[in-house]
Amino acid sequence: METKKLDAINDYGNSVNRASEILKSGGIVALPTETVYGLAASAYSDSAIKAVFTAKGRPQDNPLIVHISSLDMLKDVACDIPDAAYKCAEKFWPGPFTMVLPKGDKIANSVSAGLNTVAVRYPSEKTICDIISLSGLPLAAPSANTSGRPSPTTAAHVIDDLDGKIDAVVIGGDCAVGVESTVVSLVGDCPRLLRPGAVTPEQLKKVLPDLVIDDAVLEQLREGEKAASPGMKYKHYAPKTEAFLVEGCSNSFVKFVNQKNDCAAICFEEEYYSINVPKISYGSKRNEGTLAQNVFSVLRDVDALDVKEVYIHAPSKDGVGLAVYNRLIRACAFKVVVL
Ligand code: AMP
Ligand code: MG
Repeated sequence: METKKLDAINDYGNSVNRASEILKSGGIVALPTETVYGLAASAYSDSAIKAVFTAKGRPQDNPLIVHISSLDMLKDVACDIPDAAYKCAEKFWPGPFTMVLPKGDKIANSVSAGLNTVAVRYPSEKTICDIISLSGLPLAAPSANTSGRPSPTTAAHVIDDLDGKIDAVVIGGDCAVGVESTVVSLVGDCPRLLRPGAVTPEQLKKVLPDLVIDDAVLEQLREGEKAASPGMKYKHYAPKTEAFLVEGCSNSFVKFVNQKNDCAAICFEEEYYSINVPKISYGSKRNEGTLAQNVFSVLRDVDALDVKEVYIHAPSKDGVGLAVYNRLIRACAFKVVVL
């Protein structure tokens, strides 16, 4: 199929109108959000949702996040909504924050992969909100990448992975946040952080004092263990080059990579000029926000260096650094070198 390129930078009105028409007729459209580019389909259409799973090659048991463009739409997606959800909505919506709630009847079962819960987000990016409002549809939208690859933070990343496999891509700017939303489940005994993102545990605990951080945020699931969030059990975000996460100070990291052969480094800008192997900086170690913006791009870029292994200097786990660390440890299939 030909993937239509809708240029929202130069022709915004026409692009959002056409995207909305395609979605209303059951098509699938990649579009920018503030976190990463998403691959959207009507959350009411079982066949459109199945097309999303097929285009991405996504495992059938990994549920999707449904996006809404007003608090009013929440009741079309979820039911039995607890007070805590409204408290979180007031604080973190619109924005990079997703809640898992009891699923409403109208949402296609394929969206939640057969679970009786649904993940919901009200994004802040204007393009997706305008398309939701114009179409009148809640949009299920996982990241617009081939399953397992780094998430897309530019339209070019989407085209690299999905050109010819989806109906259209809305070409907007680069994503401001760069990592996927924070996911919190509000259906168990206590609120549970399933995936870290730009809304940090420190911010969440002010609204949800009894928040629990799921073990799977930083640890690999044990054989046979059930995932609270099915997406966390898969190998994710991986470059084609074999990747290792390295923990240690700048001096040790530089020394470590400089004595290796046939390898590259993904490093901080502070150590860039001391490294003698092929290297890419993903920003200053003091600015976790910049590291988040760049992390998926550098994971894609490293393959062009054509080396056997890449060593990635681990960020701090402070603030949004926890989200960056969580993505990198998965990109490295939990292979960590401690210096
Ligand atoms: P993605 O859309 O690719 O950013 O992935 C969505 C993430 O949300 C995955 O990690 C899913 O496992 C998680 N998720 C979506 N729906 C649910 C749900 N109903 N319960 C738990 N986790 C969910
Ligand atoms: Mg994804």
